[in-house]
Amino acid sequence: MNILQNSRQHVLSQIQQACEISGRGVESVELLAVSKTHPSEVLRDMYACGQRAFGENYLQEALQKIEALQDLEIEWHFIGHVQRNKTKHLAEKFAWVHGVDRLIIAERLSAQRLIMQPPLNLCLQVNIDAQDSKDGCQPSEVAELVKSISQLPNIKLRGLMVIPAPNNTQAFKAAKVLFDQVKELHVHPENWDTLSMGMSGDMVDAIAAGSTMVRVGTALFGARDYSQH
Ligand SMILES: *Cc1c(COP(=O)(O)O)cnc(C)c1O
Repeated sequence: MNILQNSRQHVLSQIQQACEISGRGVESVELLAVSKTHPSEVLRDMYACGQRAFGENYLQEALQKIEALQDLEIEWHFIGHVQRNKTKHLAEKFAWVHGVDRLIIAERLSAQRLIMQPPLNLCLQVNIDAQDSKDGCQPSEVAELVKSISQLPNIKLRGLMVIPAPNNTQAFKAAKVLFDQVKELHVHPENWDTLSMGMSGDMVDAIAAGSTMVRVGTALFGARDYSQH
């Protein structure tokens, strides 16, 4: 077994164990492979291990990889900060965008999604533990945003995304409470099924709190080299 196969199996078994401890089915948690800074050949190798969903943070880098890997059936997720003037590429090239925290961004993504494409899957990013440096809307804004964004035509609003400070288990629990509370405000509540939380260091706690999608980079690909950024 190669290194990527090994690390992926290890992460999948951690997910499985966390699900068992919480009495959840293993299919209730999806693994998103966070591949920022890693070259497209590495993604191709990870794909060969069975991975289909990949998450990227930097638009230019992501667009190059999407181009280089267009022969593969990858589901591309954008998990970085969304800038207002960059929405067109996101709307056209990605299946999911996790970092939406304002109505104007969602409106632009809806308007720029191409007619022949399926609706763009969105998660609303919430600054769940009041960090100054973080993107994300305030918890108090979530209800209004869910009402508005879930009405947009070319958007499928799937749930919430949070990035709490390390070891803030309480923040995961707060995100789950908020996630459950606002479901009824959604115009199509059946689409509200995704709680995107948990990374390499805290995915087990995130799953225990109710995460349905863990975003894992380092534990799959090893340490990142940011010298190109
Ligand atoms: C980089 C990144 C991750 C992955 O972090 P690891 O600690 O390497 O697993 C997850 N989510 C977001 C939003 C990221 O930017």
